[in-house]
Amino acid sequence: MKIAFIGLGHMGGGMAPNLARAGHEVRAFDLSEEALDHAVKRGCKRAKSAADACKDADAVVTMLPAGKHVADVYRGSVFGAAPKSAILMDCSTIDVATAKAVEAEAQEAGYLMVDAPVSGGIAAAEGGTLTFMVGGSDQGFEKAREYLEKMGKAVIHAGGPGAGQAAKICNNMLLGATMAATCEAFVLAVKLGLDPQTFFDISSKASGQSWSMTSYCPMPGVGPETPADREYEGGFAAALMLKDLKLAMAAAQETGAYTPMGGEAEELYQRFVDRGGGGKDFSAIIKMIDDSWKAAAGSESNSPPVTALD
Ligand code: NAD
Repeated sequence: MKIAFIGLGHMGGGMAPNLARAGHEVRAFDLSEEALDHAVKRGCKRAKSAADACKDADAVVTMLPAGKHVADVYRGSVFGAAPKSAILMDCSTIDVATAKAVEAEAQEAGYLMVDAPVSGGIAAAEGGTLTFMVGGSDQGFEKAREYLEKMGKAVIHAGGPGAGQAAKICNNMLLGATMAATCEAFVLAVKLGLDPQTFFDISSKASGQSWSMTSYCPMPGVGPETPADREYEGGFAAALMLKDLKLAMAAAQETGAYTPMGGEAEELYQRFVDRGGGGKDFSAIIKMIDDSWKAAAGSESNSPPVTALD
């Protein structure tokens, strides 16, 4: 099959070669020459533009930063350039409203389109072990599934158009809040004189356990190996967590949902990013909570220490 793949950054750069390895002809395009070169070295074909990649394509995959990039690429380069028989899959994490609007335009133009955001970071993108949450019609889901399965370990139909994005932001709102709460629990446990490993052994088997505790522990040297054991490098950047929390808060406002824990998590991650923590794994927020965070020179903002704010 011929697949147009647009957006070959941290995630797309890992995903597109998995489609090529599965035997598809992957025509890649990115505004960044460096990202495009990297994908071509790994088995993809260079396209001159996004529209060029879409010509005669059986499928189109996009992995772009945000809603405005997705809307621009579909309106400017995909609709009209791709054959009507092509299945369109947007795997970016974007706002539900834009996802629904672009999918409605696709349908009007005669295309099948799904939103298919992912869970799992750069390593899962490389390893083909992402989880896809898919929004769209039954027919769109069935058609998309055969491609998404080549890049992931699970492909789940979340519901109609926009439902994949809805599932993604609700999941990540929960993740941001449980990570912040897990960090607070460790900081308090240590202040109360508990050994962090002992607290982990108890809490990971007690009612406070969560994925943030048992699989992604923010405390170095405790539990399975995580970014905490690598100075919080790699993993899921705090800036991306903040992006997802902002999407969740915007959706909560639009729908009138009461999400105070999500709002608190957004505020905490905003402060951490303002202090230069955006590039660190999101579990590094424990360093702001225990007041040991030292931003890299030049990246610290003028915001007061966390203790003075609360
Ligand atoms: P990235 O910034 O590394 O990659 C995005 C790529 O899109 C860049 O290479 C950029 O040049 C390209 N691009 C932007 N506008 C374009 C256009 N008009 N035409 C062609 N290319 C264009 O971002 P990423 O980390 O790969 O994330 C992509 C998406 O996946 C985001 O929506 C993000 O929220 C989501 N996501 C990321 C992670 C992660 O761990 N990085 C995990 C889950 C989901």
